[in-house]
Amino acid sequence: MQSLSDVLQRSTAILLAHAVHLHFSPEIVRTGDISVTGDGFYCDFDLPRPIRPDDLEKIDNQMRRFIQDDLPLQAAQVDGQQVEEMLVALGETLLCERLPSKQSVDVVDVCSHGPFVTLSEGDHVESAGQIAAFRLLTTGAVYWKGDAKSLSLQRIHGFASASVDDLNGHLAYLEESKRRDHRKLGPELDLFLFLDEAPGMPVYLPGGLIIRTQLEQFERDLQRAAGYQEVRTPLMMNRRLWEESGHWEHYRDNMYFIDVEDGAPVATEESDGVGGGGGGGARYALKPMNCPGHMLIYKRRPHSWRDLPVRLSEHGQVHRHELSGALHGLLRVRTFTQDDAHLFVRPDQIESEINSVIRLIDQVYKVFGFTVEVELSTRPADSMGSDAEWTQAETSLANVLKALDLAYRINPGDGAFYGPKIDFHIRDALGRRWQCATIQLDFQMPEKFDLEYIGENNERLRPVVIHRAIFGSVDRFLGILTEHYAGVFPLWLAPEQVRVLPVASAFVSYAKAVVAALTTHGLRASVDARDEKLGYKIRDASVHKVPYVVVVGAAEAANWTVSVRSRAGRLQENMPLHDLIARAEAQVASRL
Ligand code: ZN
Repeated sequence: MQSLSDVLQRSTAILLAHAVHLHFSPEIVRTGDISVTGDGFYCDFDLPRPIRPDDLEKIDNQMRRFIQDDLPLQAAQVDGQQVEEMLVALGETLLCERLPSKQSVDVVDVCSHGPFVTLSEGDHVESAGQIAAFRLLTTGAVYWKGDAKSLSLQRIHGFASASVDDLNGHLAYLEESKRRDHRKLGPELDLFLFLDEAPGMPVYLPGGLIIRTQLEQFERDLQRAAGYQEVRTPLMMNRRLWEESGHWEHYRDNMYFIDVEDGAPVATEESDGVGGGGGGGARYALKPMNCPGHMLIYKRRPHSWRDLPVRLSEHGQVHRHELSGALHGLLRVRTFTQDDAHLFVRPDQIESEINSVIRLIDQVYKVFGFTVEVELSTRPADSMGSDAEWTQAETSLANVLKALDLAYRINPGDGAFYGPKIDFHIRDALGRRWQCATIQLDFQMPEKFDLEYIGENNERLRPVVIHRAIFGSVDRFLGILTEHYAGVFPLWLAPEQVRVLPVASAFVSYAKAVVAALTTHGLRASVDARDEKLGYKIRDASVHKVPYVVVVGAAEAANWTVSVRSRAGRLQENMPLHDLIARAEAQVASRL
């Protein structure tokens, strides 16, 4: 079934295409694409010149006249041959290339609005008057079929809705997402950036690294209390290991390879599917996951049934290939730190261990005020293992969720290739949904790596592996948090927690003494000793979203006090320095 929104977007896109044809003259315009997306619609056109703001205004007006005229939008299925001839006659040669092959279908979906006809699949409103509200949002250049060597087209992107209120709501949402965009806030707040020299590989500036380190330390402390042992495994390991783990077979298209000959790397073509390299060299892979390394750590010595569970954790740097068009700030990268852990458990421990992982996830997420939605993902088409193993694994996960009384949704076929998983989706301040934590049950890898433990009666038994991550990717989580907080990080994460502003140069030494006292108590503070007006320095601290701005002058220096301006309000509060320290320490301790 089609949502009302899709029907509105598609219908409005037809009006847009018609209006563009009238505006530039139908003989000149070639349509490249008419599409509905998750957040509106767009049309691509081959035009004699770029679209100017005055063009857009006239096109918009024409669409509004169409809505007033209220002509029908008529969908029809027409013989493919006839459609092709029609498109050629109209000069729509790009659309001809979008026609399905003659062998696969004999009829094609078209839609007409007045004399205008184009390709359009799906439902439409009955007549143009049913489109209550729309807005043309952006224009820009795109390549035909996304190929940089191909024709440049003009894209117009818009949004239609069932009421003016809905439209205004959506426009406010777009404005707010733009304001919070981490790709803009990261460089502005000196947190992180991306270089052309390393696409998809984030660079952390001092401020961003402080936040990351706080996040990782928070998790480390919880994990140590929950009986985890932290390890670190190499970035690069021999291809043989990846063959053994199944990654070579199931995951190699996303992996980076390097040929190492006599200890030195040599140039190589990526993913040629042939391993080894010549002359006694070996092919290595940059790890896309930490699992195989942890399997080898478990295997290095025998384990008794009494030693289990063994819980190994690693903030591991992984590399996974993504197409350049798919990269998106910190949300889609080619390298990231996974907050990974592998629990080696006896079958009778599966449910209790998963239960405690879920409790750990809950402890982490509640600090950020996220609401959580749970999904159980089942066996995918490309997978290892028997039906019986998969059924047992899926049942165990479902049992734990039921026992915890957690509402969940089944996501068929979305499990990992080695086992089913529970995914945790969080909702941020804008109501957007992000998949972060995951718990995956695995009977395959212990088999592949021949892992064992000695049972109560001295028999050799197989442990079960639970893979889990809480942030998922620390980098991506930081991107999500930057947008969730709109850059206004809570005190415990804020890179600069206190900025001290002397009212005149005579008080710089007192300001430095204040910073020294704050630093002694583990707080991150600095002095703005620049020879600028106080108002300028206050604005600058507010642009950098510093939680506490402290002003000091003669009265403060005489009494060991500070005048504190909080980030939230314009009020200035005078207090003894030790009160500020106690207040900030208490906030950090409660992760506020
Ligand atoms: Zn794993």
